[in-house]
Amino acid sequence: MTQTKDQSDFSCLYSCLDIQVPLLDGSTRTYINFDNAASTPSLKIVKDKVNQYLDYYSSVHRGTGFKSQLSTHAFEEARKIVIDFVGGNTTEHVCIFGKNTTEAINTLSHRFPFTEKKNVVLVSSQEHHSNDLPWRVAAHVEHIALKSDGSLDENDFDLKLKEYGDRVALVSITGASNVTGFINPIHRLAEKTHRAGAQICVDCAQLAPHRSINMGSLDDPSHLDYVAISAHKMYAPFGTGALITRRDTFEKGEPFMRGGGEVEIVTLDSVTWSEPPDRDEAGSPNVVGAVALAAAISQLKSIGMDKVAAHEAQLTRYILSRFKQMKGLTVYGNTSPEEADDRLGVVPINLDGMSHYLVAAILGYEFGIGVRNGCFCAHPYLLQLMGVDENNAKTVRSQIQSHDKRQIPGLVRVSFGLYNTEQEIDTLIQAIEVILAGKYKGKYHQDIPSGAFNPEGWNVDFNKYLTYEV
Ligand code: PMP
Repeated sequence: MTQTKDQSDFSCLYSCLDIQVPLLDGSTRTYINFDNAASTPSLKIVKDKVNQYLDYYSSVHRGTGFKSQLSTHAFEEARKIVIDFVGGNTTEHVCIFGKNTTEAINTLSHRFPFTEKKNVVLVSSQEHHSNDLPWRVAAHVEHIALKSDGSLDENDFDLKLKEYGDRVALVSITGASNVTGFINPIHRLAEKTHRAGAQICVDCAQLAPHRSINMGSLDDPSHLDYVAISAHKMYAPFGTGALITRRDTFEKGEPFMRGGGEVEIVTLDSVTWSEPPDRDEAGSPNVVGAVALAAAISQLKSIGMDKVAAHEAQLTRYILSRFKQMKGLTVYGNTSPEEADDRLGVVPINLDGMSHYLVAAILGYEFGIGVRNGCFCAHPYLLQLMGVDENNAKTVRSQIQSHDKRQIPGLVRVSFGLYNTEQEIDTLIQAIEVILAGKYKGKYHQDIPSGAFNPEGWNVDFNKYLTYEV
């Protein structure tokens, strides 16, 4: 056990960290969540504010009763909090609420004013599918190449920007990778993008919970035109995301989804759309989700994003230095503990000769540690990072098409949130040492269609933990 250097303790901000979970041998353990890049636990203030709001929960926007007025107030204040959090301003920017980052980017892909002559979108080869697939149907997509460690090749960005010239309408790039934690130089890319006459969208699903974001005003050459975020990665629950966008793009055109709540007047053969952001929020909005996101943001701001980043960098430095001393384990991406300040605490690994599915299963079933394994919705990136050649990729693709996922290449991802500790990392390291020594206890069988390893004798009654009985 090493000594804790970092004294930051954010665990008091949560009421869900001391949760006992069952293990394969029948015992229980306090759950360790190292899957924060997927979703983060909710802060206590989020629960409190949601509970407080639920007493006033009522229709929004069209109601005249006090509770409706309060719901409208809560929803509109949440927009301002979100805009402020990403460094925007309410004159030039609007916050369009939706389900998540995926919906935000899809909305933009439908609403961005591509023309026949200006229809190229540059995305990186690091992207989550959510910031790649929507553009493929809306425009002509070009993928910016990566360096051998999986970081962005900025020379290739420069070349593509030059090569496609006037045709580049948009650069859409992740602020930070959900696979390797690389942080992209978004403001430098923004400046180059604007100089080339294009706009920039930054997928901030990963960046937002870990770093401050500064969209800047539109006259700043390094400003960001569009930012997408998801509440469930920022210590609030699922179901809410936001596109923070320059207002002018959404003042024109027709919404992606059509319905009530976004119109001024409808006749049998005409529609007058509302001004943004209402124009792009069809149907009744998720006010509870907006309250939750605003509460989480308020907590993050009160801690200070610099403090959050420093704590997570310390965890990252620590795990990388521990991993460095271990044999039989490969870290992907940037492996240097000294550079932990420049990246997120998202650390992908593999254990020699072991399936990523099996490692993740053992950590969960025998040690109560939650990690993520697989390709993290970034298949092209994973294949490149792991050096999978086209022949192997082809074989795996045909296996998948025959409903056999056992051989899918993948990694085990350890990702930190602000409440994680070095003691938890010690527990993970001890668990990995047991696995590397082959001393895990369970007998696991791999399921062909899903690829997952299931242990013999796992018989948990989930109703003990949650039922809908009243
Ligand atoms: N972009 C990145 C970088 C992500 O990590 C994720 C989620 N893993 C998404 C987009 C999609 O987010 P959501 O599922 O909340 O839409």
